[in-house]
Amino acid sequence: MVTIQSLHLGSEQGVRIDVLRSDLIHPVISGNKWYKLRFYLEDAISKGYSEIASFGGAYSNHIVATACACQQHQLNSIGFIRGDQTEQLSTTLQSAQFYGMQLQFVSRTDYKNKKGIIENNSSQARYWIPEGGYGYLGAKGAATLLEKVTLKDYTHLIAAIGSGTMVAGLLNASLPHQQVLGISSQKNNDSLEVEVKMLVTSENQERFVYIPDYHFGGFAKHPPELLNFMNQFWIKESVPTDIVYTGKVFYAVSDLLDKSYFKPSDRVLVIHSGGLQGNLSLAKNSLLF
Ligand SMILES: *Cc1c(COP(=O)(O)O)cnc(C)c1O
Repeated sequence: MVTIQSLHLGSEQGVRIDVLRSDLIHPVISGNKWYKLRFYLEDAISKGYSEIASFGGAYSNHIVATACACQQHQLNSIGFIRGDQTEQLSTTLQSAQFYGMQLQFVSRTDYKNKKGIIENNSSQARYWIPEGGYGYLGAKGAATLLEKVTLKDYTHLIAAIGSGTMVAGLLNASLPHQQVLGISSQKNNDSLEVEVKMLVTSENQERFVYIPDYHFGGFAKHPPELLNFMNQFWIKESVPTDIVYTGKVFYAVSDLLDKSYFKPSDRVLVIHSGGLQGNLSLAKNSLLF
């Protein structure tokens, strides 16, 4: 079941903008995370593993989604969390714990060495999913976001880039007449473009447009200008967005329209990849939704 919503945004320029509302599929495993996890879980279960391990920071949507999906599949889960344990767990980690995930905190230095963590914590029952679900199976799952969409109607697909897994999947599923725009959530991380391409077949790589200009100061940074845009967007379109990824994506779409990036005949599909739980870290009343 997918919901596609047409926006008012773009009507001034004659550009039709649709949103794939994957944020609506599940309140916790929202958006792209369920899609990115599906083939990893299938693989783990078919090979007889009983426990899933993965990595993430204290605000990682991937960690909560993994915890929740594992509980649904009756798998144990363990999260290796970047940084020392704080007295008060983030709301994200509290949710992960609520879904039965065991949390293991790893210093920032040790966290950089994922191979070392895997070597020191391996067990026969444990299946490892890379950070952010990055990898071939993650991209393959992300491509299924588009399964029920009448894809040929669109000239452009637009989505956020975290690890790059989702955009890689979209590229692999996209059609020869389409461009896939990836809006980076991070500042000055040019290796992202390469990481996306590593998961994409060569003929599909050419249609990738990497857009690094809308990070708003860096990963998870959310200056008042962004929050204000998100509130205005909610008022005009009734679409809630998150501070890390989708707020920046819709801001980018709006700004690209202002800069006449799109032609009047273009039809644009924006992937709303979920992530709304990330807004729980904001002060109350920052957002209207
Ligand atoms: C994780 C996440 C992304 C980034 O996806 P990648 O596949 O890691 O690039 C984008 N949007 C939301 C809402 C997310 O939670």
